[in-house]
Amino acid sequence: MSEIDSLKSELRVLEEQALASFTQATDLLALQALRVQYLGKKGALTNVLKGVGRLSAEERPVIGQFVNQVKDALTAALDAAEATLSVAEKAKRIEAERLDITLAGRKANKGAIHPVQQGLNEMCAIFAQMGFEIAEGPEVEDEFHNFDALNIPQEHPARAMHDTFFFHADEAQQAKLLRTHTSPVQIRTMKGCVDSGGQPPLAVVAPGRVYRCDYDVTHSPMFHQVEVFKVDKDVSMAHLKGVLKHFLSTYFEKDLPIRLRPHYFPFTEPSAEVDVGCVFCAGKGCRICKGSGWLEVLGSGMIHPNVLKAVGIDSSVYSGFAFGLGVERLVMLKHGIPDLRLFFENDVRFLRRMGA
Ligand SMILES: [Zn+2]
Repeated sequence: MSEIDSLKSELRVLEEQALASFTQATDLLALQALRVQYLGKKGALTNVLKGVGRLSAEERPVIGQFVNQVKDALTAALDAAEATLSVAEKAKRIEAERLDITLAGRKANKGAIHPVQQGLNEMCAIFAQMGFEIAEGPEVEDEFHNFDALNIPQEHPARAMHDTFFFHADEAQQAKLLRTHTSPVQIRTMKGCVDSGGQPPLAVVAPGRVYRCDYDVTHSPMFHQVEVFKVDKDVSMAHLKGVLKHFLSTYFEKDLPIRLRPHYFPFTEPSAEVDVGCVFCAGKGCRICKGSGWLEVLGSGMIHPNVLKAVGIDSSVYSGFAFGLGVERLVMLKHGIPDLRLFFENDVRFLRRMGA
């Protein structure tokens, strides 16, 4: 047998072996191994080609063509086998991953709104229904908005009572501080209105975080307030009382009596502490209301003429009422929560019980 014929017959044997082995492969991995075994750089076909060196110059193109035919045949067979196997494997995988949709599901943990935020939302909604607009202001304030404009001058004792967190200020700047109440929003809103050429009426509810250097069962260094005020011609204490009564009865979902006790705040005149009939004992007297039948809930009053003057509103034409309430305190009373700190510890058991 000539050299070329023996090479050809070697190639034919190789082709037959290869084709037979392809049909036996049971998965794609095995098929890939066969591809390497026969067609790879160090594969069987390459190995046979080593014999080409023994051929004459005329014979080499002939055997070259023959090799290409074998190579094409093997490649085509491999591709076809691969296609068949991949369809089969996909079908197998789908079968294995079949979902039993009759199995009862596991309940996912849902996120929800924190009880304090829930309270804020409820409160703002009640005031919005009465026509108050929601306004917000910065938590980092200056002394003008937090104190001066609210009729609390530098040496006023009320300033010391606020337990303020101050930021270090250089000499050129006014000291910055964390606002101790939401009342600065009152100043910003009124001043913003006047500065842009407007005048009252203004009816605003301003919710937000406030900061005081204080921490115990009923005090947190950060807590939430809602500031409410209305300025217009002929606004009186009667309007204040009406709004308070409607708000408190709506929030506590029962018709509660309220009473106003004379008090002192620098930014209102006259000023009144507001009590609501105890939500726990309906006025009979209990541990929570310390036997009085009343719960102190907020501070209020008629906006001091000096405050109106500080923002450029003529107090001989306009008057207004304002009050600020502690959100955590009202949420605690509504839901019978004994300790303020529960709101900030984020104990999931507490939050779940609160529906958060
Ligand atoms: Zn009570």
